Amino acid sequence: MLSTIVGEVNGRAWVHPQQAKGSVLAAFSCRVGGDSTGPFASLNVGLHVGDDPLQVIRSREQCAAYCGVPLEHFVFAEQVHGSAVAVVTHEHAGRGARNLATAIPGVDALVTNQSGLALAILVADCVPILMWDEARHVVAAIHSGWRGTVLHLAAKTVDVMKEQFGTHPSDVRVALGPSIRRCCYEVDDAVLDKVKSEFSPLVVSPSARPKHAYLSLVDCIREDLDKSGVLPDHVEDVGICTSCHHNLFFSYRKEGRTGRSLAVVCLK
Ligand SMILES: [Zn+2]
Repeated sequence: MLSTIVGEVNGRAWVHPQQAKGSVLAAFSCRVGGDSTGPFASLNVGLHVGDDPLQVIRSREQCAAYCGVPLEHFVFAEQVHGSAVAVVTHEHAGRGARNLATAIPGVDALVTNQSGLALAILVADCVPILMWDEARHVVAAIHSGWRGTVLHLAAKTVDVMKEQFGTHPSDVRVALGPSIRRCCYEVDDAVLDKVKSEFSPLVVSPSARPKHAYLSLVDCIREDLDKSGVLPDHVEDVGICTSCHHNLFFSYRKEGRTGRSLAVVCLK
């Protein structure tokens, strides 16, 4: 399951989708190799979780160096569990990189067609989705927890790529990153009611607890992408559960107070 993890110098480790090559950098950070301590040990890139901001910036700089893109060329989204998508350019470079307040407000998905601009999403259980269309030279990064998933944020992002850049869905490649999986993601009736009205019954499995079930966000997203015209064999799921592997990834469900991992996509 963890065969896509690439060991790096100083114990750093990243997950790379196998189909991202050529003109696209796509990567998901693990939690090892940084200097944060306690619940944030150790490569925490979340500025909003109560960790020492200077340490978080150092970890972000480490991640940027790994990607070969200066932190000043990263763009971060505010991430509000909504369904808004922002198209960004080099005018937005550095937004949210060193200061929470300058992140692109009110959005959970970023799209660009500009080379050298790194789109960043932070996660600890929610699904980080990276997309790219090498034919039209477009990339996208999406934060999809259950709220964004039932709002069809993945499909909405494909729509933006189509409308703004002429993307053909059959050219889109997708990587679904480390996130909480059906094995560990038990949800209650309030969530299930919303999920059941939007997705097939296959996305949930029964739980022994009354009024609860296990939910696969990744399978919801696959259904969305399928309806959008993205080819199933262009969707690569790294297949890692953050809760099962909380030694390697931050898991909010498993740990409560914890750090955030980075999902990044960039046109070279
Ligand atoms: Zn699990």
